Amino acid sequence: MGVDLKTIPASHAYIVASEDEILRNETALLLARSFLCEKGRALCGICPGCRRALAGTHPDLVTIERKTDDKGKVKRDISIEQIRQMVTDAWARPQEADRKVYIVKDAQLLNTAAQNAALKILEEPPAFDVFILCAESAEALLATIRSRCVVVRAGGERAVLQDEAAEEYLKLAAVGDRAGICLFMGKCEGFDSERLGTFLESLRAALSDVLCGRKKIPGLSGSEAVRLLALCDRAGEYLRLNVGPKHALGMLCALK
Ligand SMILES: [Zn+2]
Repeated sequence: MGVDLKTIPASHAYIVASEDEILRNETALLLARSFLCEKGRALCGICPGCRRALAGTHPDLVTIERKTDDKGKVKRDISIEQIRQMVTDAWARPQEADRKVYIVKDAQLLNTAAQNAALKILEEPPAFDVFILCAESAEALLATIRSRCVVVRAGGERAVLQDEAAEEYLKLAAVGDRAGICLFMGKCEGFDSERLGTFLESLRAALSDVLCGRKKIPGLSGSEAVRLLALCDRAGEYLRLNVGPKHALGMLCALK
């Protein structure tokens, strides 16, 4: 991805900054998983911690985002109540993981009062908490908040994130993890054709790397890589024929 997790200093609070909303949210999720993956910072993609984080069902991963009103319209900002609730909740111990991770999306929309409410917990958080604030820029947040956080600039291209996703898919396919693949595909369901196209390109590149020995995916044999490459081509063909991303994704669920 655009940011190398290993180079990010350990902290209890981060600002993931990018004007690209998808990029910053996905980077935040990767960072969150680095605290929830049961194989340490490996982001294995297959342990229960990774899987639940990806599926959005991890009890120790809490996402704070704009709510929708009665008419289904997304509200303009995140309320101070939501932040107060987070602060209260943050004192309760994690349920399954060692850490409890809070992702605040669109933190640039927090007003001063809400930011000050967040500051309380950022200043003296329990040792098990991690806070990840996603914002268009770090400067959109109060200096007092910034001084408590490690700023991660999610630069680079979305394509790089797709490389991570491709590798994750291959790890699951290699061990024939049907449930894992389904969860993974669920996460990709919102992809439009363009994003899915980039994902397929990353997948194809990773498979060629496996075939010529540049990359190793545990359990992924050469013949399986060839089969997956054919699946990729067929999914790509579906996309070109405008069959719709969902069908193309469905192709990739076909395990041997
Ligand atoms: Zn994991």
